[in-house]
Amino acid sequence: MQVAYFSDGQGICFYSERTDGDTCSMYHGHKLSTESACHEGIASCLGQSNGFEVIRVAQYHSNDVVEASHFWNDVPQADGIVSGDRSLVPTVMVADCVPVGLYDKTKGITAAVHAGWKGLVAGVIENAIDFMTAQLGASEVEAVIGPHICARCYEFIGPESQIVAKSFGSECFVGEDHSFLDLSACVKKIFDTKGVSMIYEEKDCTLCSERFFSYRGGDTTQRIILGVGVVGE
Ligand SMILES: [Zn+2]
Repeated sequence: MQVAYFSDGQGICFYSERTDGDTCSMYHGHKLSTESACHEGIASCLGQSNGFEVIRVAQYHSNDVVEASHFWNDVPQADGIVSGDRSLVPTVMVADCVPVGLYDKTKGITAAVHAGWKGLVAGVIENAIDFMTAQLGASEVEAVIGPHICARCYEFIGPESQIVAKSFGSECFVGEDHSFLDLSACVKKIFDTKGVSMIYEEKDCTLCSERFFSYRGGDTTQRIILGVGVVGE
Protein backbone atom coordinates (compact mmCIF):
# COMPACT_ATOMS: atom_id res chain seq x y z
CA MET A 1 0.00 0.00 0.00
CA GLN A 2 1.39 3.39 -1.02
CA VAL A 3 0.74 6.46 1.12
CA ALA A 4 0.86 10.19 0.43
CA TYR A 5 0.43 12.60 3.35
CA PHE A 6 -1.60 15.77 3.10
CA SER A 7 -0.04 18.92 4.51
CA ASP A 8 -1.20 18.47 8.12
CA GLY A 9 0.39 15.02 8.35
CA GLN A 10 -2.98 13.66 9.55
CA GLY A 11 -4.85 13.23 6.31
CA ILE A 12 -3.52 10.47 4.09
CA CYS A 13 -4.23 9.21 0.63
CA PHE A 14 -3.45 5.51 0.16
CA TYR A 15 -3.55 3.32 -2.92
CA SER A 16 -2.77 -0.30 -3.58
CA GLU A 17 -0.50 -1.93 -6.12
CA ARG A 18 -0.74 -5.18 -8.09
CA THR A 19 1.25 -6.95 -5.36
CA ASP A 20 -1.45 -6.00 -2.82
CA GLY A 21 -3.94 -8.11 -4.79
CA ASP A 22 -7.28 -7.49 -6.47
CA THR A 23 -9.41 -5.33 -4.18
CA CYS A 24 -12.69 -6.44 -5.83
CA SER A 25 -12.14 -10.00 -4.69
CA MET A 26 -11.71 -8.86 -1.07
CA TYR A 27 -15.29 -7.67 -0.66
CA HIS A 28 -17.95 -9.78 1.03
CA GLY A 29 -21.03 -8.09 -0.32
CA HIS A 30 -20.58 -4.42 0.42
CA LYS A 31 -18.00 -4.82 3.14
CA LEU A 32 -14.28 -5.02 2.58
CA SER A 33 -13.29 -8.12 4.53
CA THR A 34 -11.46 -7.12 7.69
CA GLU A 35 -9.31 -10.22 7.17
CA SER A 36 -8.20 -9.08 3.72
CA ALA A 37 -4.73 -7.83 2.86
CA CYS A 38 -6.30 -4.60 1.64
CA HIS A 39 -8.08 -3.91 4.94
CA GLU A 40 -4.93 -4.74 6.87
CA GLY A 41 -2.94 -2.42 4.61
CA ILE A 42 -5.36 0.44 5.20
CA ALA A 43 -5.39 -0.22 8.96
CA SER A 44 -1.62 -0.07 8.99
CA CYS A 45 -1.60 3.24 7.04
CA LEU A 46 -4.17 4.74 9.41
CA GLY A 47 -2.36 3.46 12.47
CA GLN A 48 -5.47 1.75 13.81
CA SER A 49 -6.50 -1.85 13.52
CA ASN A 50 -10.22 -1.24 13.63
CA GLY A 51 -12.78 1.43 14.37
CA PHE A 52 -13.05 2.56 10.78
CA GLU A 53 -15.28 1.56 7.90
CA VAL A 54 -14.17 1.44 4.29
CA ILE A 55 -16.86 3.01 2.11
CA ARG A 56 -17.37 2.37 -1.57
CA VAL A 57 -19.89 3.20 -4.29
CA ALA A 58 -21.10 1.40 -7.40
CA GLN A 59 -19.14 3.36 -9.98
CA TYR A 60 -20.73 4.07 -13.34
CA HIS A 61 -18.82 6.93 -15.01
CA SER A 62 -21.25 9.57 -13.77
CA ASN A 63 -20.83 12.91 -12.04
CA ASP A 64 -22.74 11.76 -8.96
CA VAL A 65 -21.15 12.44 -5.60
CA VAL A 66 -22.62 11.14 -2.35
CA GLU A 67 -21.94 12.05 1.25
CA ALA A 68 -21.09 9.19 3.58
CA SER A 69 -22.34 9.83 7.10
CA HIS A 70 -22.63 6.15 8.10
CA PHE A 71 -21.74 2.76 6.65
CA TRP A 72 -24.24 1.85 3.97
CA ASN A 73 -25.49 -1.64 3.24
CA ASP A 74 -27.07 -0.52 0.00
CA VAL A 75 -24.18 0.81 -2.02
CA PRO A 76 -25.36 3.86 -3.98
CA GLN A 77 -24.48 4.41 -7.61
CA ALA A 78 -22.00 7.26 -7.73
CA ASP A 79 -18.42 8.09 -8.67
CA GLY A 80 -17.42 10.24 -5.74
CA ILE A 81 -17.75 9.96 -1.97
CA VAL A 82 -17.32 12.85 0.46
CA SER A 83 -17.29 12.46 4.23
CA GLY A 84 -16.91 14.65 7.28
CA ASP A 85 -16.72 11.61 9.56
CA ARG A 86 -13.17 10.51 10.21
CA SER A 87 -14.25 6.96 11.09
CA LEU A 88 -15.38 6.53 7.48
CA VAL A 89 -12.82 5.99 4.72
CA PRO A 90 -14.08 6.90 1.23
CA THR A 91 -12.55 4.76 -1.51
CA VAL A 92 -12.79 4.13 -5.24
CA MET A 93 -11.53 1.26 -7.38
CA VAL A 94 -9.75 1.75 -10.69
CA ALA A 95 -7.69 0.19 -13.44
CA ASP A 96 -6.65 2.94 -15.93
CA CYS A 97 -9.19 5.65 -14.96
CA VAL A 98 -7.96 8.43 -12.67
CA PRO A 99 -8.57 8.09 -8.95
CA VAL A 100 -8.39 11.35 -7.02
CA GLY A 101 -8.08 11.76 -3.26
CA LEU A 102 -9.25 15.05 -1.70
CA TYR A 103 -8.79 16.37 1.82
CA ASP A 104 -9.51 19.53 3.77
CA LYS A 105 -7.43 19.86 6.89
CA THR A 106 -9.49 22.69 8.38
CA LYS A 107 -12.52 20.43 8.80
CA GLY A 108 -11.02 16.98 8.36
CA ILE A 109 -13.15 16.30 5.30
CA THR A 110 -12.17 13.38 3.07
CA ALA A 111 -13.19 12.42 -0.46
CA ALA A 112 -12.38 9.88 -3.14
CA VAL A 113 -13.36 10.27 -6.79
CA HIS A 114 -13.25 7.98 -9.81
CA ALA A 115 -12.95 9.72 -13.17
CA GLY A 116 -12.57 8.47 -16.69
CA TRP A 117 -13.04 10.82 -19.62
CA LYS A 118 -16.82 10.74 -19.21
CA GLY A 119 -16.66 11.65 -15.55
CA LEU A 120 -14.14 14.41 -16.25
CA VAL A 121 -16.39 15.97 -18.88
CA ALA A 122 -19.47 15.52 -16.67
CA GLY A 123 -17.72 17.31 -13.80
CA VAL A 124 -17.45 14.61 -11.14
CA ILE A 125 -14.27 16.11 -9.64
CA GLU A 126 -15.76 19.63 -9.52
CA ASN A 127 -18.88 18.19 -7.90
CA ALA A 128 -16.83 16.57 -5.15
CA ILE A 129 -14.85 19.77 -4.50
CA ASP A 130 -18.04 21.85 -4.51
CA PHE A 131 -19.71 19.47 -2.09
CA MET A 132 -16.76 19.73 0.29
CA THR A 133 -16.77 23.53 0.22
CA ALA A 134 -20.45 24.43 -0.15
CA GLN A 135 -22.02 21.69 1.97
CA LEU A 136 -19.33 20.89 4.51
CA GLY A 137 -17.42 24.16 4.82
CA ALA A 138 -14.06 23.10 3.42
CA SER A 139 -11.76 26.02 2.66
CA GLU A 140 -8.37 24.52 1.77
CA VAL A 141 -8.86 21.48 -0.41
CA GLU A 142 -5.74 19.47 -1.20
CA ALA A 143 -5.48 16.66 -3.73
CA VAL A 144 -3.60 13.54 -4.72
CA ILE A 145 -3.77 12.09 -8.23
CA GLY A 146 -3.50 8.32 -8.05
CA PRO A 147 -2.29 5.74 -10.60
CA HIS A 148 -3.88 6.02 -14.04
CA ILE A 149 -3.11 5.42 -17.70
CA CYS A 150 -0.47 7.82 -19.04
CA ALA A 151 -0.83 10.04 -22.09
CA ARG A 152 1.62 7.94 -24.13
CA CYS A 153 -0.60 4.88 -23.66
CA TYR A 154 -4.03 6.44 -24.00
CA GLU A 155 -4.92 6.76 -27.67
CA PHE A 156 -8.13 8.74 -27.84
CA ILE A 157 -9.71 9.39 -31.21
CA GLY A 158 -13.15 9.75 -32.71
CA PRO A 159 -16.07 12.00 -31.76
CA GLU A 160 -15.33 11.65 -28.04
CA SER A 161 -12.06 13.47 -28.50
CA GLN A 162 -13.92 16.58 -29.65
CA ILE A 163 -16.13 16.41 -26.58
CA VAL A 164 -13.10 16.27 -24.30
CA ALA A 165 -11.28 18.99 -26.25
CA LYS A 166 -14.30 21.25 -25.89
CA SER A 167 -14.15 20.94 -22.11
CA PHE A 168 -10.42 20.84 -21.53
CA GLY A 169 -8.77 22.31 -24.63
CA SER A 170 -6.52 20.74 -27.24
CA GLU A 171 -3.53 21.18 -24.92
CA CYS A 172 -4.76 18.13 -23.00
CA PHE A 173 -3.98 16.03 -26.07
CA VAL A 174 -0.45 15.00 -26.97
CA GLY A 175 1.34 13.18 -29.76
CA GLU A 176 1.94 14.09 -33.39
CA ASP A 177 -1.70 14.42 -34.36
CA HIS A 178 -3.00 15.05 -30.86
CA SER A 179 -4.49 11.59 -30.69
CA PHE A 180 -3.43 10.77 -27.14
CA LEU A 181 -5.27 12.10 -24.10
CA ASP A 182 -3.47 13.32 -21.00
CA LEU A 183 -5.96 12.61 -18.20
CA SER A 184 -3.67 14.14 -15.62
CA ALA A 185 -3.55 17.45 -17.52
CA CYS A 186 -7.37 17.55 -17.47
CA VAL A 187 -7.44 16.93 -13.71
CA LYS A 188 -4.81 19.60 -13.02
CA LYS A 189 -6.83 22.08 -15.03
CA ILE A 190 -9.78 21.44 -12.73
CA PHE A 191 -7.56 21.89 -9.67
CA ASP A 192 -6.32 25.23 -11.02
CA THR A 193 -9.84 26.45 -11.68
CA LYS A 194 -11.05 25.37 -8.26
CA GLY A 195 -8.03 26.59 -6.29
CA VAL A 196 -7.11 23.10 -5.14
CA SER A 197 -3.47 22.39 -4.22
CA MET A 198 -2.09 19.15 -5.62
CA ILE A 199 0.32 17.69 -3.13
CA TYR A 200 1.26 14.47 -4.92
CA GLU A 201 0.80 12.67 -8.21
CA GLU A 202 1.67 9.05 -8.93
CA LYS A 203 3.68 9.18 -12.15
CA ASP A 204 3.86 5.47 -12.97
CA CYS A 205 1.27 4.46 -15.53
CA THR A 206 -1.21 1.65 -14.92
CA LEU A 207 -0.54 0.23 -18.40
CA CYS A 208 3.17 0.72 -19.14
CA SER A 209 4.47 0.12 -15.63
CA GLU A 210 4.06 -3.26 -13.97
CA ARG A 211 2.96 -1.84 -10.66
CA PHE A 212 -0.81 -1.60 -11.07
CA PHE A 213 -3.74 -3.34 -12.69
CA SER A 214 -4.66 -2.11 -16.15
CA TYR A 215 -7.98 -2.75 -17.88
CA ARG A 216 -6.39 -2.12 -21.25
CA GLY A 217 -3.50 -4.33 -20.26
CA GLY A 218 -5.87 -7.26 -19.81
CA ASP A 219 -6.84 -6.92 -16.15
CA THR A 220 -10.54 -6.72 -16.92
CA THR A 221 -11.83 -7.68 -13.48
CA GLN A 222 -9.03 -6.69 -11.13
CA ARG A 223 -8.86 -3.26 -9.52
CA ILE A 224 -6.62 -1.28 -7.23
CA ILE A 225 -8.14 0.81 -4.44
CA LEU A 226 -7.53 4.47 -3.59
CA GLY A 227 -8.90 6.10 -0.50
CA VAL A 228 -8.52 8.97 1.92
CA GLY A 229 -8.44 8.69 5.69
CA VAL A 230 -7.29 10.46 8.83
CA VAL A 231 -4.62 8.78 10.92
CA GLY A 232 -5.70 7.62 14.35
CA GLU A 233 -4.89 9.54 17.52
ZN1 LIG B 1 1.74 4.39 -19.98
